[in-house]
Amino acid sequence: MATKVHIDGRVVPPEEATVSIFDRGFLYGDSVYEVTRTVRGRPLELGPHLDRLERSAETIALSVPPRAEVIRAIDETLAAAGNAESYVRIMVTRGSGPISLDPATAERPRLIVLVKVMELPPAKAYSDGVAVCIVGVQRNLRRAVDPRVKSGNYLNNVLALAEAKKAGAYEALMCDFQGRLAEGSTSNFFFVREGELLTPALEVGILEGITRQRVMELGRKVGLPVREAELEPADVASFAEALLTSSVRGVVPVVTIDGSPVGGGVPGPLTRRVMAAYAAYLEAA
Ligand code: PMP
Repeated sequence: MATKVHIDGRVVPPEEATVSIFDRGFLYGDSVYEVTRTVRGRPLELGPHLDRLERSAETIALSVPPRAEVIRAIDETLAAAGNAESYVRIMVTRGSGPISLDPATAERPRLIVLVKVMELPPAKAYSDGVAVCIVGVQRNLRRAVDPRVKSGNYLNNVLALAEAKKAGAYEALMCDFQGRLAEGSTSNFFFVREGELLTPALEVGILEGITRQRVMELGRKVGLPVREAELEPADVASFAEALLTSSVRGVVPVVTIDGSPVGGGVPGPLTRRVMAAYAAYLEAA
């Protein structure tokens, strides 16, 4: 059971995993990343995660190493760590350079793969559900750092989560600049209203979550109507259920929003169906 890091072409223990203070990931958050988990030792949804890494990089004109190189680094790091199940974080920074915002001054991209023991949220989060809080920190504008880009520039999300934690919540729910419900600091949201599973539209400006996509598919497979919708905080009172999704959590029921119970204030029947479908999907993955 170990944490191992692939950095500058070598697998090292965490205490040796350091970057230069001239790395642009450190200086400016000038990087892209992905996080997944292993299931029976293999990274879950690796193809879609690497597709998104490449799309994020392309949007900010950062070149990621060839996919085979990234996969080799992941495999070497997983092998060195030897965990039963791992958390896997893949990062590519624009690399080091002189102190200058100009991306053309970067030397070469730096690939880092961090592997540590996979820890799911506590069982209570799945059985009893979690509290979330609609925060004042807004999701970034699509014309700023587009939320579709999973960049290392996460200060906005850090502040959103801090605001939620201060209010005693497990996760933040951010709105866009027009006040539409968007997403969590590291999760996507779904809501149940009149028997339908609704999720904020990509067009609002959110990360296209890989678990979100999977849950939309699985929801339809088990016969639930699923659609993207424009929603706002005033709609929360009409929700019978809510849930959040992410690669390292799967599906987590949300039972209160801003201190008010969602529906009956316990994980609802549709949430349970989605959770069961996701568990079966992991079982078969
Ligand atoms: N939104 C944000 C802002 C995130 O950081 C994450 C975690 N990657 C998600 C949503 C969930 O995405 P995924 O299902 O791909 O992990």
